[in-house]
Amino acid sequence: MSPAEKNWAGNITFGARRLCVPRSLRELRETVAASESIRPLGTRHSFNTLADTTGDHLSLAGLPRVADIDAAGRTVRVGAGLAYGEFAAELHQHGLALANLGSLPHISVAGAVATGTHGSGVGNRSLAAAVRGLTLVTADGATRTVRRGDDDFPGTVVSLGALGVVTSLDLDLVPAFDVRQWVYEDLPEATLTARFDEVMSAAYSVSVFTDWRPGPVGQVWLKQRADGAAPDRMPARWLGARLADGPRHPVPGMPAANCTRQQGAPGPWFRRLPHFRMEFTPSNGDELQSEYFVARQDAVAAYEALALVRDRIAPVLQVSELRTVAADDLWLSPAYGRDSVAFHFTWAPDAVAVAPVVAAIEEALAPFGARPHWGKVFSTGPGTLRALYPRLADFERLMAAHDPEGVFRNRFLDRCFPR
Ligand SMILES: Cc1cc2nc3c(=O)[nH]c(=O)nc-3n(C[C@H](O)[C@H](O)[C@H](O)COP(=O)(O)OP(=O)(O)OC[C@H]3O[C@@H](n4cnc5c(N)ncnc54)[C@H](O)[C@@H]3O)c2cc1C
Repeated sequence: MSPAEKNWAGNITFGARRLCVPRSLRELRETVAASESIRPLGTRHSFNTLADTTGDHLSLAGLPRVADIDAAGRTVRVGAGLAYGEFAAELHQHGLALANLGSLPHISVAGAVATGTHGSGVGNRSLAAAVRGLTLVTADGATRTVRRGDDDFPGTVVSLGALGVVTSLDLDLVPAFDVRQWVYEDLPEATLTARFDEVMSAAYSVSVFTDWRPGPVGQVWLKQRADGAAPDRMPARWLGARLADGPRHPVPGMPAANCTRQQGAPGPWFRRLPHFRMEFTPSNGDELQSEYFVARQDAVAAYEALALVRDRIAPVLQVSELRTVAADDLWLSPAYGRDSVAFHFTWAPDAVAVAPVVAAIEEALAPFGARPHWGKVFSTGPGTLRALYPRLADFERLMAAHDPEGVFRNRFLDRCFPR
């Protein structure tokens, strides 16, 4: 099949010589075993060269799209190429849910897990933390299953596609729940910094959107669980912010029709936790993204450090989002070992203008040990990555053991994990 030419954002032109789309697990294993250089490809939503290759690309799009639900065991086994939005409704019909979702339901489970993708919520961990087991095909075409509790498990989940092709994942489930989404506007910036924990803990999942221009913070999205004694109305004013009088898009001026329902209308978890509707399918994007994770206790100091470079951020920014991610124990997860706040930046699609601003942000956040999102634009060097991830050397040992010939390596991995 002719190669996938570009990533979703269009900023990366892939160098793959062909795209392999096996129709069965057997064919997949044979394809991997026969290739000298191959990279698994998800839904192409990463913004850097992480998924790129000059060898073969392998997509799971041709495999059966299965989601086997074990209601009693509160788990689902999904084909790794599935997008979250493809099986969420079925989980809900069974009275089950994933604890959290990212902003876009169109992203593949394997790709999200491989990069430590996350949503928000002080008690919610990364999407990868829901993985209780996975099966992957290693460079020699063999299949290997790892489960929570196995020695290598915490190193194998956020794998950056470096250990093999993940073919299925077992995910933890919770009882289904409903969510009400509310948007507040114009939160005074001084209130955000003075009462940061209170703001970020105000709902099951909280996102703060800002354009970094001086003045109030643009929007606060509160995703409240609608069970128990949850209110079905919210005050018109909260911490000095104003309840929005209609649906909003995170980027001012963009149509809210593509966003999940707001204004407190209750709905199932999978129709409220993402910001964007599954029915709205953006095949490509006019944006770049970067994101950095710092310890939650450093959130306000990190915010203030970023505010010092706001004049550089604002001109190339569409919008910035602040979210919380609870700590996990996955070696390459940006939330490894620490409750985190993630500072996200949706940039204008201008890589040349964005690059020096990304460097300025990395400098501003360096004192806080900021870990970059693996799937977004960053320039953090290998020495810094090594210092940021205490188990990075253990991950390199896994890479060497799973893939001694470097079949899954690419330039991105060579840069981050030089041999
Ligand atoms: C509009 C938009 C919204 C986003 N929202 C969020 C968000 O809310 N939170 C967040 O944290 N991130 C977010 N992201 C980033 C995104 O979640 C990550 O970049 C994610 O990795 C993309 O998954 P993908 O399937 O597109 O993977 P790709 O970009 O195709 O690949 C990413 C990595 O996953 C590996 N991979 C893919 N499939 C497999 C497999 N079967 N086996 C092994 N490795 C595999 C690839 O080799 C590569 O290393 C967003 C991105 C976009 C474009």
